[in-house]
Amino acid sequence: MKFRLILRQIYTMRFDILTVLPELIESPLNHSIMKRAKDKGLLEVYLHNLRDFAVGKHRQVDDYQFGGGAGMVMKPEPIAACIEQLQQERTYDAIIYTSPDGVRLDQELCNRLSMLDNVLVLCGHYKGVDERIRETYITLEISIGDYVLSGGELAAAVIVDSVGRLIPGVLNDETSALFDSFQDDLLAPPVYTRPAEWEGKSVPDVLLSGHEKMIEDWRHEQSLERTRIRRPDLYEKYVHGDHDKINSVENLH
Ligand code: SAH
Repeated sequence: MKFRLILRQIYTMRFDILTVLPELIESPLNHSIMKRAKDKGLLEVYLHNLRDFAVGKHRQVDDYQFGGGAGMVMKPEPIAACIEQLQQERTYDAIIYTSPDGVRLDQELCNRLSMLDNVLVLCGHYKGVDERIRETYITLEISIGDYVLSGGELAAAVIVDSVGRLIPGVLNDETSALFDSFQDDLLAPPVYTRPAEWEGKSVPDVLLSGHEKMIEDWRHEQSLERTRIRRPDLYEKYVHGDHDKINSVENLH
């Protein structure tokens, strides 16, 4: 997997995000690492306002749900029109719908997504989108956790951020993403910076030793211990599983 990540050909990954509230996504993707990724030309994010694809005087994007009940449902026509227009310009490797009933986003899925070139993300709002849109266009449904957001925009921002930082060249020290939590089913070890002595607490001696092998071993032990205590489920997976598995792009559809 590590090699696959490093060897991904270096060219731009493109996200097209369909939303009724583009403002909600703009800010998180226009600062820090995401901004740098875009400035370097490694990541492109295009926001499409579904209202621009709605017809009629009121440019309606939602409507009452059949069968009654509170909450509006996003109408199929503007979504279909937007997706079809975009599909005329390029083929999408994944057409994602953000949804609490989708597959849970984790680091493994992020790795797999980071190897794709063109990804479309549809953000739901209100009660969600008309089911027929999901049946017709969506190839992958992603939840960012077992809780309900008021819209898919924050979930889309989470997807772009967590995937975008894995594109080679996005992070300054390219290897650093490989040592983040979850990359090997382990949590990251504790980290320290200057001063070496603060409020009577000192940094572990080994980190000041300059001895690379000892530092590496210490970090690995800390990772193991932290994972064993905080995430026994991951620890079991690490101990018993194939913890250097390939995260292929297969099964995304
Ligand atoms: N009635 C729906 C929730 C609608 S919430 C249900 O119970 O499943 C409105 C929109 O927010 C959803 O269409 C989806 O796009 C987004 N959303 C809410 N929670 C989310 C989550 N955990 N992960 C990803 N998207 C989510």
